[in-house]
Amino acid sequence: MGKIVAMQVLSVASEIYPLIKTGGLADVAGALPGALAEHGIGVRTLVPGYPSVLSKLGKTKAVRRYEALFGASAALLAAKVVELDLLVLDAPDFFKREGGPYGDLGGTDWSDNWRRFAALSRVGADIAEDGVKGWRPDLVHAHDWQAAMTAAYMRFGPAHRVPKVVTIHNLAFQGRFGADVFAGLGLPPEAWGMDGVEYYGGIGYLKAGLVSADAITTVSPTYADEIRSPTQGMGLDGLINGRADRLHGILNGIDTAIWDPAADELIARRYTSRALGGRVANRRALEKHFRLDRDDAPIFIIVSRLTWQKGMDLVADAIDHLVGLGGKLAVLGAGDHPLEGAFLSAAERHRGRVGAHIGYDEPLSHLMQAGGDAILIPSRFEPCGLTQLYGLRYGCVPVVARVGGLADTVIDANEAAVGAGVATGVVFAPSDPLALHGGIARTIRLHGDKAGWQAMQRAGMRADFSWRHSAAQYAGLFRSLVQGAA
Ligand code: ADP
Repeated sequence: MGKIVAMQVLSVASEIYPLIKTGGLADVAGALPGALAEHGIGVRTLVPGYPSVLSKLGKTKAVRRYEALFGASAALLAAKVVELDLLVLDAPDFFKREGGPYGDLGGTDWSDNWRRFAALSRVGADIAEDGVKGWRPDLVHAHDWQAAMTAAYMRFGPAHRVPKVVTIHNLAFQGRFGADVFAGLGLPPEAWGMDGVEYYGGIGYLKAGLVSADAITTVSPTYADEIRSPTQGMGLDGLINGRADRLHGILNGIDTAIWDPAADELIARRYTSRALGGRVANRRALEKHFRLDRDDAPIFIIVSRLTWQKGMDLVADAIDHLVGLGGKLAVLGAGDHPLEGAFLSAAERHRGRVGAHIGYDEPLSHLMQAGGDAILIPSRFEPCGLTQLYGLRYGCVPVVARVGGLADTVIDANEAAVGAGVATGVVFAPSDPLALHGGIARTIRLHGDKAGWQAMQRAGMRADFSWRHSAAQYAGLFRSLVQGAA
């Protein structure tokens, strides 16, 4: 039997729920620490001090100060929010801005993102080197390109022996910058080059992290396979294949305390899988919010970034088909402006059948999962995807493309699966108009069989996508790395 090692981990992330969130990364960064605690692993998370983060901190203590962190004055604040143990990088020159974590209000990336996230990563490596007030991590876990340089700074510095894990939440975002920024990074000359930060003549932050990490994880087993292929590897498949022995696909879990239809305070009426009738009040509230007709036609929902990755252009083009078959659609999302416009104009065109809410609204996303019949996710690629997991838990049947984590988590309602009572959703492939039309039509047919539909809802609600299994996998990996380094 392996000995349980009490371990300290520094997690470095550019988002963390409930302080700052633009996507699934925040949910994971916010939930994994609690799940790892069950395994004797203590996590402190280093996050940027955006205004929305600083405003939610209670009592803080400065545990380190920088007079010139990439030219800016900064303080590292220790704080506790809910159960999260945070180290917040308060660097106003970098993070005190109106807009999102990565760009301005218009959605344009900040031009100094290379410096902002190099600074975050530099501080991560400093903590690995020196600790803070006697606390020292046994392992560093960096999320996505914004934090990946932590592994590079560690590798080329005194903390090179501390195990470093880089998790890919989305390979499409790589943090690529011009070669000219190298001089400003404060890395030694040997860090330049194929085996370092250099990437197609420029600099790649995620790439630098991936070559420097002792282990690479990504957020579902299927995505771990997909990113080894040229079509899905986004230029990094060669590198990832070369490090395949260090690559692990660990499915994201969901925070079952925050996403629990039996206890959710953000929905109109709470319910369980045994009493699905409680969903009706949520359905009515949803119809009211989106000004949809009050009837029993199946309501498809979308809670998503409105982007090409998510296949939202396919949905926009399929709306007439969906409505023609008798379905209704409620869209909550923000993203590409032409897509936002397409959904708004569809809502005009199909009053009572289609509703669109452009923006980001966490409470509304809960109500939609509780009141909608099916959540539509025709992603072209999907590292894990969380909204299908929330859908499963809330009895909002996922209708998904067979890619990445969607393929790993939804069981298609084919004859065999329905017969065995294990079907949890509708899975179609590929992500194209024809297959999406077929998936929508099949969903509407299935919805017509009330008993069959409820069986599918219940099977989904019973499935366990909590962090339990996944945290055990992270814990096992972390332990093996720490023991290997000892
Ligand atoms: P990604 O991280 O690629 O955007 P995920 O499915 O992994 O996709 O995670 C998306 C997260 O963001 C989910 O928690 C989802 O509920 C939430 N979300 C996405 N868009 C919105 C929105 N417009 N309003 C509220 N929550 C949203």
